[in-house]
Amino acid sequence: MQKDVLIVGGGISGITVGNELAQSGISTLLIERESALGGLAASFCCKASESCNQCFACVVDKRVSEIRSGSSFSVLTGTELTGLTGEPGAYTVSLKKGTERMDLKISAIVIAAGVDPFDASRKAEYGYGRFKNVITARDLDEMLRLRGKLFRPSDGKLPGTVAFFQCVGSRDESIGNLYCSQVCCAYALRLIKAIRYQYPEIKAAFLYMDIQPAGASFGQFLNSCRQDNGIRLIRSLPSKVYHSPLSDSLKVRLTDPVKGGVVEELFDLIVLSVGMVLRKESNSLARLFGLNFNEEGFFAPPPAQTGIFVAGACSGPKDIDRSIIHSKSIACAVRQYLKGRS
Ligand SMILES: Cc1cc2nc3c(=O)[nH]c(=O)nc-3n(C[C@H](O)[C@H](O)[C@H](O)COP(=O)(O)OP(=O)(O)OC[C@H]3O[C@@H](n4cnc5c(N)ncnc54)[C@H](O)[C@@H]3O)c2cc1C
Ligand code: SF4
Ligand code: SF4
Repeated sequence: MQKDVLIVGGGISGITVGNELAQSGISTLLIERESALGGLAASFCCKASESCNQCFACVVDKRVSEIRSGSSFSVLTGTELTGLTGEPGAYTVSLKKGTERMDLKISAIVIAAGVDPFDASRKAEYGYGRFKNVITARDLDEMLRLRGKLFRPSDGKLPGTVAFFQCVGSRDESIGNLYCSQVCCAYALRLIKAIRYQYPEIKAAFLYMDIQPAGASFGQFLNSCRQDNGIRLIRSLPSKVYHSPLSDSLKVRLTDPVKGGVVEELFDLIVLSVGMVLRKESNSLARLFGLNFNEEGFFAPPPAQTGIFVAGACSGPKDIDRSIIHSKSIACAVRQYLKGRS
């Protein structure tokens, strides 16, 4: 098989690069290790309340269904990379799909291998994995998408009070991730809006350090959260969570942002706003392609003359919108590279 470009990863970033290159008539193969395209964002629920809250999840769904109904570039799902030989401009990659193996000659490679949510059990003081009613924002998203309703994992009942803890796995010296994950403030606030719309009786608390803006209309969206008397925005991050067996509720210890001093409050459900980390299997890609890491632990851009490019969230935390913008700029760089060689 011969193609101009190989894209590794079929999330929104890989799909965007594929679409852009196909529009320029560049022959491209995208491989995805999973059986379906869409990456992490394909599992997000719609977070609309009275109106659309701009979470971008449906953009990913739309791009994936466009490919299903006929794509202008080649796609192989359930496929992995097993080897790389050759030199810049003339690489041969070995691929494996089930028991089938194939070699592909290509001029350039785009790595769009994406991210994983932070493993919340590493913040032991919050009790994820120990207390049933401590879940992550991603668990909540899946609950709403797959089950269509909100409930407490311990008893299946609707919680009366929900606390969202921000910056779980980001901006945290104790676990070695100092960067801001960019998406989790907006992600959590959209989830709160969607929940409050469906269940106006629920009271939500958003516990944060700073609020990271996301997109042009975010200011307006944040104001609507501030004006909602069922949502409290509390500038304080909790230090510890305890389980209270009698009431099956969770006791949260935090510093009172107004009066100072430690206070404790009870909640029925706690949602941890986990940030993003480079996908753990990406180390094998780094070894295969000789990629370096930046200070934050994501892929650093390789020198352009190698013909190897890095696109989307695996190059640093990005929301869907910014992953699309970044991937379009990488497609442009690939075009320039191929032009320079012809
Ligand atoms: C908890 C959480 C919540 C988020 N919420 C939002 C939100 O509400 N709104 C928003 O805009 N953004 C949100 N994001 C960010 C969003 O998930 C990313 O912007 C988006 O997923 C980036 O797309 P990507 O294609 O770069 O990576 P991914 O979506 O991770 O896709 C990468 C793909 O590459 C594949 N892959 C990896 N390695 C290989 C390999 N070796 N061979 C073949 N395939 C491979 C993976 O299987 C995957 O399908 C959130 C992120 C997290 C962690
Ligand atoms: S809230 Fe998100 S998924 Fe729902 S319509 Fe708006 S952008 Fe699409
Ligand atoms: S986006 Fe918000 S919650 Fe996420 S790391 Fe940045 S400041 Fe913390």
